[in-house]
Amino acid sequence: MNTDCLFCRIAAGSIPSVKVYETDGVLAFLDISPVEKGHTLVISKRAHSATILDTPPDIAAELLAAAKTVAAGMMAASFGGVNLVQNNFPDGGQAVPHIHFHVIPRAKGRQGPLVWASGSNPYADDAERAAFAERIRAGIAAANP
Ligand code: AMP
Ligand code: ZN
Repeated sequence: MNTDCLFCRIAAGSIPSVKVYETDGVLAFLDISPVEKGHTLVISKRAHSATILDTPPDIAAELLAAAKTVAAGMMAASFGGVNLVQNNFPDGGQAVPHIHFHVIPRAKGRQGPLVWASGSNPYADDAERAAFAERIRAGIAAANP
């Protein structure tokens, strides 16, 4: 891992995050500037790699499986849909050069393509953020017993 990397530091717990799912290999936590409420990021705890191109296939597979677990949990938590996004390189819109999947729940009735606007759907307050995290955690537990 890389101590200069924001997401390595979150994976190590030295920078706090609102966790929704964790295994030995992955961590899923709420995005700080959600494009939709419940916007979650999935990162590897095993190793630092910047993009999909320098990520070993087994790590990429573990990340995608975790993203699926989180997505299934969101659907079990009565969201209406879910988008997976994975940005690479600055020209691909990647701001944090530690590979991550965005797992973005869509409210029932939301419909239409995802509008990618960082921070466009902020939480009203800490209590609302905590409630979304708990809703997703409960959905993951229900969908992946
Ligand atoms: P990307 O543009 O694909 O690299 O996405 C990086 C994401 O990380 C953005 O959606 C940011 O809002 C998010 N982000 C940046 N810093 C933090 C943080 N400390 N905790 C949670 N999410 C963060
Ligand atoms: Zn890193």
